[in-house]
Amino acid sequence: MRRPDLLPIPRKLTLGEGAFDLAGVDIAAAPGFESAARLLAEWLRRATRLDGKAIGLVGAEGAGGAGISKGLVSRGLIRIAKDAALGPSESYRLVISPTGVSLDAADLDGAIRGASTLRQLALSHGAELPALAIEDGPRFTWRGAMLDSARNFQRVEFIEKFLDLMALHKLNRFHWHLTDDQGWRLDIPSMPELVRFGARRPERRVNIPRWQEGHYTRDEVRRVVDFAGERGIVVVPEIETPGHATALLASHPELSCRGGAGGGNEPFVTEWRHGIFEDVLCAGNEKVFDVLGRVFDEVAELFPGQWVHAGGDEVPKARWSVCPKCRSVMKVQGLRDEGGALEPEFLQGWFMNRVAALLADRGKRMIGWDEILEGRPRKDAIVMSWRGYSGGVDAARLGHEVVMSPQTKACYLDHKHLDLPEEPGQLGVCTVRDSYSFEPVPESLNPGEAALIVGAQANIWTELMPFGRNVEYMAFPRLSALSEVFWSPKDGRNWDDFARRLEVHGLRLDALGVNRYRGPLE
Ligand SMILES: [Zn+2]
Repeated sequence: MRRPDLLPIPRKLTLGEGAFDLAGVDIAAAPGFESAARLLAEWLRRATRLDGKAIGLVGAEGAGGAGISKGLVSRGLIRIAKDAALGPSESYRLVISPTGVSLDAADLDGAIRGASTLRQLALSHGAELPALAIEDGPRFTWRGAMLDSARNFQRVEFIEKFLDLMALHKLNRFHWHLTDDQGWRLDIPSMPELVRFGARRPERRVNIPRWQEGHYTRDEVRRVVDFAGERGIVVVPEIETPGHATALLASHPELSCRGGAGGGNEPFVTEWRHGIFEDVLCAGNEKVFDVLGRVFDEVAELFPGQWVHAGGDEVPKARWSVCPKCRSVMKVQGLRDEGGALEPEFLQGWFMNRVAALLADRGKRMIGWDEILEGRPRKDAIVMSWRGYSGGVDAARLGHEVVMSPQTKACYLDHKHLDLPEEPGQLGVCTVRDSYSFEPVPESLNPGEAALIVGAQANIWTELMPFGRNVEYMAFPRLSALSEVFWSPKDGRNWDDFARRLEVHGLRLDALGVNRYRGPLE
């Protein structure tokens, strides 16, 4: 029997003798795990091309009458049961013998991760699963992937494909970048002008349709949230504040410091150019917080997860420095530098704390890019470290939870795979090996600080990815490499072994129709 070649590699794997034949199997789940059984059945049918008769579902009552208990292997059955002693959330134990399969999990998410392992085996081995025993669980609780749907819009069908591929890699946080200078993609029914002006932009590049447009309705967002939830993935929406806000200003110019573009007399137009723009949300205008509050009302209702990303990156202070309303806030709040001069950098900290409070009022916790440390963010704010490790190190030392996502260390999948003119990408080079070599926990942290590194994330900025196929090419297999960094024990990682397993895993991606990069890995 061939090696299982799983990716990410499990914590402990022991090979057995023989194989289990999926044809004619039934899947039985203990109460609470039925959705994992349905998902597993769907995954196995698609991987093996067996139909619903060959891979069936039975309820707990049908599986021997006595319900489903842990650790049992029954003939012709995949039994999914709970074993709370297995450890933290998402942990599971999988035993495949020639007679049956038992999947015991700490919780529903653990059952989904175990199902993902079975799916990988079926994708590479067909209906004959190798006998083995696996004990597995995650290294980090936050294993994220960010997709930028603002710079270029992707249909819900593509979002679902991406989520399904995340589940294949045991990733569990989908950070959905929904607003930016180049697009506002979330429909807020009480403010239809947001998508009317913000989800459409003139396109001035060649060979691209003259208008680039698209947004997600409430029903589509619910569909995405449900699809992700079935796969044990939490959707973390991002509403960018106070910068990267041109698409919002396109419908609400009064929220800018000058009330308009140009000298203040022209309308804002959702940007087609890339970069950083000086017109941002005015920190001294209460209407800004009213509008954000209404947006967050809808966000809080649509997204059941506990986190909302509020941006906070790349905010030029040119407008705030001279805006009477912003200067007034700085004076009233005493936001001054050591020499006593008004300090707009501190105004950003004040602004982000107002945003965090709006979210907290709605039961949500704020995440921000590491620039939020330039003020004094609330203790419960989570810092996403993107400008290297230093923001994350500083944040952990201040007691914040941290998600590591440094652009300098292989987490930015818009970078080129190789330093060649033929390779697409921007702003840097990141080989598959670079991604695999990433270590989320900096050595400079003491154990208490290191425990605040809750995980790590890959980011896919789509300025140069007009089509979903482009996203796939940039994501895979670097996201596969990062998934092992995020999930597997640090001492379980080995480059040569990974590169060998990736040859098999690439065929799984092929079977799922992924347009993967196939060039040199380093
Ligand atoms: Zn202002």
